[in-house]
Amino acid sequence: MSKYSQTFIGLGSNLEDPACQINNALKALSELPNSKELICAPWYSSKAVGPGEQPDYINSVASLKTTLPQLELLHYLQAIENQQGRKRDIRWGARTLDLDLLLYDNIQHNSDELTLPHPEIQHRSFVLLPLYDLAPELILPNGDKLEELAKQCDTSGLKLMTSDNANK
Ligand code: ADP
Ligand code: MG
Repeated sequence: MSKYSQTFIGLGSNLEDPACQINNALKALSELPNSKELICAPWYSSKAVGPGEQPDYINSVASLKTTLPQLELLHYLQAIENQQGRKRDIRWGARTLDLDLLLYDNIQHNSDELTLPHPEIQHRSFVLLPLYDLAPELILPNGDKLEELAKQCDTSGLKLMTSDNANK
């Protein structure tokens, strides 16, 4: 059995050139220690949910194999957010970069700092669709089939970005 764990990381940005933020985050993820095989799903644009008027988001999901333990990986994700100017002020407010640890193998974990799987996966089409693009056969630790969740979710406000509309 591989000693590498299979993880999925949600990426989101709606401030300060989101396409650039996502590209920089992918570069930082590709340079994480003890990790390999970073693959990024197609990008989606989504309407912001949360307080007040906010610009649209770019969202995607990356797959990464790693031997970093789950909390250490979370701390690396937070360090990348901080490097890219993330300010933790308003919960769900606009942000330069949000990196969420969505899944880490089949681990279920509940602490103040980390909940696995990420508790919002089921409710967020901007997570479910790119995750489905990467891993159509995936079954969540609670037995839910990703395919069914992705087909049932509300995709209003969500758009697949193509080279025509990505402004990359
Ligand atoms: P959200 O991503 O829900 O919009 P934040 O990024 O502001 O909100 O929330 C970050 C907080 O969530 C951090 O304090 C972190 O410890 C906690 N957290 C719990 N589980 C996870 C997870 N699976 N991935 C990322 N952060 C998590
Ligand atoms: Mg987050």
